[in-house]
Amino acid sequence: MAESVELPGRLAILPFRNKVLLPGAFIRIRCTSQSSVKLVEQELWQREEKGLIGILPVQDAAETTSMDSMLSQGVGSESCERSSNAQVSTSDAHKVDGKNPSEVIHWHNRGVAARALHLSRGVEKPSGRVTYIVVLEGLCRFNIEELNTRGPYCTAKISPLEMTKSGYFLISIFYLLTCSEMEQVEQDPDFVTLSRQFKAIAMELISILEQKQKTGGRIKVLLETLPFHKLADIFVASFEISFEEQLCMLDSVDPKVRLSKATELVDRHLQSIRVAEKITQKVEGQLSKSQKEYLLRQQMRAIKEELGDNDDDEDDLASLERKMQNAGMPSNIWKHAQRELRRLKKMQPQQPGYNSSRVYLDLLADLPWQKASEEQEMDLKAAKDHLDCDHYGLVKIKQRIFEYLAVRKLKPDARGPVLCFVGPPGVGKTSLASSIAAALGRKFIRISLGGVKDEADIRGHRRTYIGSMPGRLIDGLKRVGVCNPVMLLDEIDKTGSDVRGDPASALLEVLDPEQNKSFNDHYLNVPFDLSKVIFVATANRMQPIPPPLLDRMEVIELPGYTAEEKLRIAMQHLIPRVLDQHGLSSAFLQIPEDMVKLVIQRYTREAGVRNLERNLAALARAAAVRVAEREQAVSVSKDVHKITSPLLDNRLAEGAEMEMEVIPIGVNNHEISNAFRIASPLVVDEAMLEKILGPPRFDDREAADRVATPGVSVGLVWTAFGGEVQFVEATSVVGNGELHLTGQLGDVIKESAQIALTWVRARVADLKLAAAEETDLLQGKDIHIHFPAGAVPKDGPSAGVTLVTALVSLFSQKNVRADTAMTGEMTLRGLVLPVGGVKDKVLAAHCYGIKRVILPERNLKDLVEVPAAVLSSLEILVAKRMEDVLEHAFDGGCPWRQHQHSKL
Ligand code: ADP
Repeated sequence: MAESVELPGRLAILPFRNKVLLPGAFIRIRCTSQSSVKLVEQELWQREEKGLIGILPVQDAAETTSMDSMLSQGVGSESCERSSNAQVSTSDAHKVDGKNPSEVIHWHNRGVAARALHLSRGVEKPSGRVTYIVVLEGLCRFNIEELNTRGPYCTAKISPLEMTKSGYFLISIFYLLTCSEMEQVEQDPDFVTLSRQFKAIAMELISILEQKQKTGGRIKVLLETLPFHKLADIFVASFEISFEEQLCMLDSVDPKVRLSKATELVDRHLQSIRVAEKITQKVEGQLSKSQKEYLLRQQMRAIKEELGDNDDDEDDLASLERKMQNAGMPSNIWKHAQRELRRLKKMQPQQPGYNSSRVYLDLLADLPWQKASEEQEMDLKAAKDHLDCDHYGLVKIKQRIFEYLAVRKLKPDARGPVLCFVGPPGVGKTSLASSIAAALGRKFIRISLGGVKDEADIRGHRRTYIGSMPGRLIDGLKRVGVCNPVMLLDEIDKTGSDVRGDPASALLEVLDPEQNKSFNDHYLNVPFDLSKVIFVATANRMQPIPPPLLDRMEVIELPGYTAEEKLRIAMQHLIPRVLDQHGLSSAFLQIPEDMVKLVIQRYTREAGVRNLERNLAALARAAAVRVAEREQAVSVSKDVHKITSPLLDNRLAEGAEMEMEVIPIGVNNHEISNAFRIASPLVVDEAMLEKILGPPRFDDREAADRVATPGVSVGLVWTAFGGEVQFVEATSVVGNGELHLTGQLGDVIKESAQIALTWVRARVADLKLAAAEETDLLQGKDIHIHFPAGAVPKDGPSAGVTLVTALVSLFSQKNVRADTAMTGEMTLRGLVLPVGGVKDKVLAAHCYGIKRVILPERNLKDLVEVPAAVLSSLEILVAKRMEDVLEHAFDGGCPWRQHQHSKL
């Protein structure tokens, strides 16, 4: 670095065109011109110790011929900013023709003494011309006293301009600075302020450079060790500044002036770096963003093309947003939805959670927040006709529905009771509910609750669960698309509760008019107003429905149909519907009443008409096959016109146009049957029944056959499918007094068996069941009681009397009457208690061909529900005590009474 140098009085001068070498800077020059080669040779190359030369800026815009080219090197190898620029400027030629220096417009009067740090000599190949490459270090400023341009190269008489530690130097002709004066300058408060400013700004520059290239370490050391007026030169030398500014810097001899000038330049440089950086960042950002967009758009286009989805319709989310806007959400929910949409928009489609958010918003947009089916003025008469027309019988039920509708008409927003139809399958519960919807002009949606054990099925899963879904109610509303449908909660008795919660409690909320205004589905997570929905429920049985739920509903019981009712339903409703469904008409298939009766008796034994409908459908299917076969035969003949339809003949006779009457074949089912009007209708007979439906499944002889041995009695039970005839079989085997029970029995029925056995054992003597001395009936015996069918679970107390009858029959070895069925709970003391489901049981007995039915006395009142036709075909026997039952059950009365009679 520029330590103290003693300057000679005269120096060889190397002109430096349009450039300035400042003290502290390094420069690499390639000397090719004659004068400069000579100068280097004589002043530097041939000298023992490396000499000094003067570098003097010259200003000339004119063309020059000199081949000198300068390779500038920056402040030092550390100052990379400058170094990189230096590379670029390698080709810059700054030429001064040494021979004609006088042609140079302006020689500056101040220069910088430089020391050669490195010299290398080269000989150009064919010409043999010598060139030098010189690395020079600027040392200190000097003043030209007198310039001599004659000679092989320029020389000048100079005077130093800066101070060294060892003596005085001329600053200007009139102004001398001594070392002590320099010290004075350094203490000058202006100088100190300026130095501080310079240092601050220089540090800032260094830190920026450091971030970029991590080479600031050594420069920082310089900043700490060198005096500021020297640093000023070094810093400025490393920037690319204009020639004028360089000259100005060279001329700033006063340290204060130089510092302030340098501060200004460093600051400017700093600003320019910052601006440049900002611009680069901006440009880079813009580029990468637009490039990314471009790439994505290209990909999207390619995907669309691949999918054949070329319509450039607006993007998916925009259409979702529009759908949401049209959904008519309440304002708070709209805000919630918008928040979610904003979140969705920020996500990438591949991001986890995107899809679930999308599906959720779709649901929000699809839900009928306000959309309702328009309720027209209800025509009660039409509604009644509709109900009557769709359903045979059910007078009381239709009357109740009619009342319900009438109330709705008077007060449309009335919160009437929730109707709950209870009855066996196939008795018309669902179809009644849909008739209500039709009468009200509302849409109908059925939600099956059978087997729902998880509360989440009603209320939905929270969205945090994977695969979460809304509950069935919200899902149903989405499907039906209106907020005021008639919603059928089907099989409400089949919900159960387990560890996953209690669906019934969720249903309570749904059915409670106070709470269902803001029904909270966990998935939806915003309240939904269910108050406009009309709920109707169905159940097979009342017992399993939790009492609080039952309390919210008005139960309407639908008992099973009698055979007569079934026949009417079949003739008036089922057959026309079945024929229509199969594309047939009565002109083609006829099922006479007798045959329907046979189907009812032999092929179905049910409370409702579902199996009956199924059997009729089987007949219709078979008929359809025949039609299809004949159709084929006709189309093969291709002689459609020759079908002798009376209709066709008449029209032709009247001269109607032939083409108009061409009967197309096989286009749809109606047309098929039209085409075969000529064929005599297929009339179902017994043989055909057996052929299509198989051999009869039930007959009247069954009871008689099964009760042909002692120990068997006929009971009447009630199941979810209506009333049923239940046989009880008892037998005794060698054993040690145990009671065995089989047939999938529940606890209550098992206890009934115990009671029955105890009662019989207690009355052995009274009933004269064993020899007088043999008091224990079970001595050496086991009793086995079985309830066929063994696979069907059974429970309930109403088999009490049947069990006793079977046991008495077993012990007395007397057959029970095969035409008599019974039902009733029995106490341990022998009282017969009333039971439920009497109507269904009586109907079942009637169906089965039973002629006599033994009922508890207190059940007599229930017989009003039984159709008179059924009652008239049955003998109803009343029992108050067990003995009454036995009296009726055995031919000739109770064995004990017989005994008494015989005694008498
Ligand atoms: P549920 O819901 O009680 O199980 P559905 O309502 O599904 O029974 O009825 C089964 C079929 O029987 C339906 O096709 C229905 O129209 C018919 N049905 C039941 N009862 C009657 C009736 N009283 N009159 C006319 N059709 C009936």
